[in-house]
Amino acid sequence: MTGSSTGGVSETRGRKVIAVSACLLGEAVRYDGGDRRSAPVVALASEFRIVALCPEVELGMGVPRETIELTETEGGIRLLGSRSGRDWTAPMRGYARARIETLLAEGVAGFVLKSRSPSCGLRGVRVVELDGSMAARGRGLFAEELQRGWPEVPVEDEEGIADSTRRREFVERVRAVVLDTGKGHC
Ligand code: SF4
Repeated sequence: MTGSSTGGVSETRGRKVIAVSACLLGEAVRYDGGDRRSAPVVALASEFRIVALCPEVELGMGVPRETIELTETEGGIRLLGSRSGRDWTAPMRGYARARIETLLAEGVAGFVLKSRSPSCGLRGVRVVELDGSMAARGRGLFAEELQRGWPEVPVEDEEGIADSTRRREFVERVRAVVLDTGKGHC
């Protein structure tokens, strides 16, 4: 995966580091083995060092894989396998918190996440009933953990990055982040 976080991801030569949904970078990590390359997101490499991240692959779901859905249940919204009903809610939340904590500790100063994904989507993600009918709109679980736990961290989706005003605001917010890793800031 591009810019894997197995090594350090700290900023280099004054360039801040951002974590980006891997499918937006053209990596074949989607459930069907495809990608969702976004040229405006890839172009952020001129501003920042990019670390790729795919919550579903990193959680061990594999490629290709069963699709997952945010699903309304008696116990609240769960992240379930569409066919198997396998419950990924707790593993995804636990993975997300640990991964985000590590990335931030390593110097990541912002995130760009794939819209409408049950893992990465920041808003407007489909929530279905157990019978598959549409129930509501919600937020992907990785995105939810990020925004709930670290509301100060700049985050955008590829639709925002494709919009010149939102892109500029995101870039400025990331540049303004003061890292607490002891490695300084720009
Ligand atoms: S939207 Fe997120 S979880 Fe889905 S393929 Fe892209 S990076 Fe992976």
